[in-house]
Amino acid sequence: MELVLTTHFGNERYRFAETYEQLGGYGALRKALSMPKEEIVAEVRKANLRGRGGAGFPAGVKWGFLPKDLSRPRILVINADEGEPGTFKDRLIMTRGPHLLIEGIAITCYALEAHTCYVYIRGEFVREAEIVQEAIDEATAKGYLGKGILGTGFDLEVTVHLGAGAYICGEETSLINSLEGKRGWPRVKPPFPASVGAFGLPTIVNNVETIADIPWIVTHGGEKFASLGVEKDGGTRLICVSGPVKKPGVYELPVGTSLRSIIYEHAGGLRDGKALKAVIPGGSSTPVLRADEIDVGFDIESMQKIGTMAGSGGVIVIPEGTCMVRALSVLMNFYAHESCGQCTPCREGCGWLAKVLHRIENGQGRNGDVELILEVCDNMLGRTICPLADAAVMPAQSFIWKFREEFDGHLREKKCPYGNRF
Ligand code: SF4
Repeated sequence: MELVLTTHFGNERYRFAETYEQLGGYGALRKALSMPKEEIVAEVRKANLRGRGGAGFPAGVKWGFLPKDLSRPRILVINADEGEPGTFKDRLIMTRGPHLLIEGIAITCYALEAHTCYVYIRGEFVREAEIVQEAIDEATAKGYLGKGILGTGFDLEVTVHLGAGAYICGEETSLINSLEGKRGWPRVKPPFPASVGAFGLPTIVNNVETIADIPWIVTHGGEKFASLGVEKDGGTRLICVSGPVKKPGVYELPVGTSLRSIIYEHAGGLRDGKALKAVIPGGSSTPVLRADEIDVGFDIESMQKIGTMAGSGGVIVIPEGTCMVRALSVLMNFYAHESCGQCTPCREGCGWLAKVLHRIENGQGRNGDVELILEVCDNMLGRTICPLADAAVMPAQSFIWKFREEFDGHLREKKCPYGNRF
């Protein structure tokens, strides 16, 4: 199986520039610097590289939104916030292969004619930020970053910016506000960051994994990358598997690998002979699947067809014996806590959902509470500045639609059948 990112992640020294170079690193940058910029962008388009942060927007198409006018400096921002529960792949890239990211940044900035890049790393990732900074220092000393990189006239400055640990700062406009030193609140779009982004300048925001794929695409060509995945969704992706499986962890697999094979072959199936009850496939914001829905390819379109999302690649495995009311209640506490509070439907709605779920789980639910949750969801969906409200609604609706009997059972019995109490 062809690997794009993780081939050398087992080598402890791969995070250092010397080893990275010995294993072929920075060859793609040398090649890219001899290519016309438009050709690099064309290869990325051919690669069908979809953003790996969650939304899955095609990277090459996103780059095309930059205004043609070069009179205003362009900025590349790397979204290394990785706050989606169940997702822990970008930190692996930053700790095991930071030069993949840096080489991808250098190629992307060259192709987009951007001379400034910020790597926005979530506040909790202190060690990751140190490793990335060390790698930037090494790359600068070796001439891959800084003034006139590799003897060309191309200058590039890369700055690490540590956030303060807010989930909402993974949303690109909120991230930009935070980067500018403002409160991490999402902005109303339009204008989109490609025209008015960081410091008012044209800005492209891409996820760590997305940019780390760029060197491989330049080396091997967009078509080869596309051929590793499925139509309209190329390459491999890093899938994070958590929950009570025998081998939880991060797996690099071709896009389109079946969810069943991810859970049972790669992650070894569930521990202690337990049966599977449900799966949250792409990070906590994505609609839940029942155990009988996992014969599906892990790619954006196949997931959409069955009403869920590949999201950020965070597969959360839920075993039999789990109370789905409690599981949803835990998720809603998270969203209620992380809502930035700008929009009434999100600020009030997330808190309301959390409160109602809490009382249902504690045997104090009232008749009509399940309908109330669904009604609140209807009044949140698509009515807010950013997708956080939708991110709370999608699990809420899907948990109820697929496991309604558990919610009704709590109301009927006036207690949690699994014996849970908060
Ligand atoms: Fe803030 Fe929620 Fe509105 Fe997003 S949807 S801007 S998180 S209040």
